[in-house]
Amino acid sequence: MQLVTLDAAPNAAGQPLFVEFVNTLHWYEGAPIELIGSEPEFAAWLLEHGLPAVDVPGCLPEVHRLREHVRGATEALTRRREVPEVDMQALQIALSAPTGSLRLVDSQSARPQLNFATDAAAADVFSFEIALSVALFLRSPQRKRLKLCANPGCGFAFVDTSINATRRWCFMRFCGNRVKVRAFRGRQKTGGRAL
Ligand SMILES: [Zn+2]
Repeated sequence: MQLVTLDAAPNAAGQPLFVEFVNTLHWYEGAPIELIGSEPEFAAWLLEHGLPAVDVPGCLPEVHRLREHVRGATEALTRRREVPEVDMQALQIALSAPTGSLRLVDSQSARPQLNFATDAAAADVFSFEIALSVALFLRSPQRKRLKLCANPGCGFAFVDTSINATRRWCFMRFCGNRVKVRAFRGRQKTGGRAL
């Protein structure tokens, strides 16, 4: 049996699980960077994110399909649009797949946890956790802070946790500086000055 926390907090950097998951595929100068392209890579990613192992050979195509739907939802949210029906449907299916029951864990502590106990297959529990992360985010005040990196060739998603919500880049040292250098060179070319 697996227990899934229903009120999972974002990680230390303020990023919900689904954002971490969608970023396992992003782009560098338009070329894909795939972080979970093999089963060992996926296993390592799960471990890194404190998730139970999914020891199901051949599960990756399904995981990648789920990620496409999560990207569809993420991109819609960053544009303040409704999540496309096809993506929402896939998330609803993932949410409703595992059957189980609710458990209040550490009920006497200051922070009791509401958990979902299920005997569903590990792959279904994984999809459920990702879909749950999206579902909780839809009702969170952070929803308006979901962004894509301002470098259009990157595709990296993040929740902007800066005080004034002014973050634009995945990481300044990657995209921010690169785009700035390009813009600077562009200005030099179009500036009309002989160099
Ligand atoms: Zn970027």
